[in-house]
Amino acid sequence: MSGVDTPMAALAPWLQRQSAALLAQRGHAWLLQGPSGLGQYDLALALVRAWLCEASTPQGACADCASCHAIDVRTHADLCVLMPETDMIALGWPLSEKAQTEIDDKKRKPSREIRVEAMRDAVEFTQRTSARGRGKALLVYPAERMNHVTANALLKTLEEPPGDTRFVLASEAAHLLLPTIRSRCLGHTMVWPELDAMRGWLAEQGVAPAQAEALLRAAGGRPGDALALARGGLTPERWASLPRALARGDVAALSDASPADAVAVLQKLCHDMLAAAVGAQPRYFSASDLPKPPRLGRLTRWARELARTARTAEHPFNAGLMLEMLVSQARNVLNSRA
Ligand SMILES: [Zn+2]
Repeated sequence: MSGVDTPMAALAPWLQRQSAALLAQRGHAWLLQGPSGLGQYDLALALVRAWLCEASTPQGACADCASCHAIDVRTHADLCVLMPETDMIALGWPLSEKAQTEIDDKKRKPSREIRVEAMRDAVEFTQRTSARGRGKALLVYPAERMNHVTANALLKTLEEPPGDTRFVLASEAAHLLLPTIRSRCLGHTMVWPELDAMRGWLAEQGVAPAQAEALLRAAGGRPGDALALARGGLTPERWASLPRALARGDVAALSDASPADAVAVLQKLCHDMLAAAVGAQPRYFSASDLPKPPRLGRLTRWARELARTARTAEHPFNAGLMLEMLVSQARNVLNSRA
């Protein structure tokens, strides 16, 4: 989600502090947990980079040695990255030759789960000798995308760790992990950064200060998600006009969102309408941008419908039809007056 095209970019200051704190502790397996957008992946990568670095300091990797360079160009022999193929591709990590050929030959689509084959390769990796002599590291992200077969294979390796391998699991939904995996790791809960620090960091990433506030709000206060929204072309004006556009049934308001993203936006709107209906402050939108709230019962029903749709949104039969359905549902709810 962040750091996609800039592997060398400096860590956000709040991640730097967490990285130094974790590096000061012993531990061969970390579990970084917390909601999305707080930098789990960036922190995990900073840890493995420091572990493997030839000149690391208490602050982290040197960014200059052969090991650091090898990680930056995604070819470190002692680092194994275990992710769903869709995330590997998005974050610039190479797939196994076999997987890449299957996808190139259109035999299948990139997987959204961590595949059993990739886990097998990872287990084999942990049993090899370190190529650079500084031990090895296995990074798993998002760890909740393991199915029970892959999770059990990882558990075995965690239970009998080959001497020189260290693990970092990064998760945005740690409650979905096997309890036995969680208990094998040292847990670290991601720190929620201060508003000023997030603003400063977003400015460094090229997000104008005038936009940062609204985007942070749209992202529920999560800086990584706010940056992803900015890079996806969302403007504060567009976000502000969204509730009323949906009340009009304007499909174009969500036309460039994937079905899963569209459901996520509607869930935010539904959350805020529920808040407004009970006299609480909205979280994602400004109160002045929201239409008048419908009856509470209608909104709670909408929330349930959206939760149900969210479970199938990754594989809709027809993305266009699904979007039309979602927008017409939203229009009906938003126009049913209390
Ligand atoms: Zn280094």
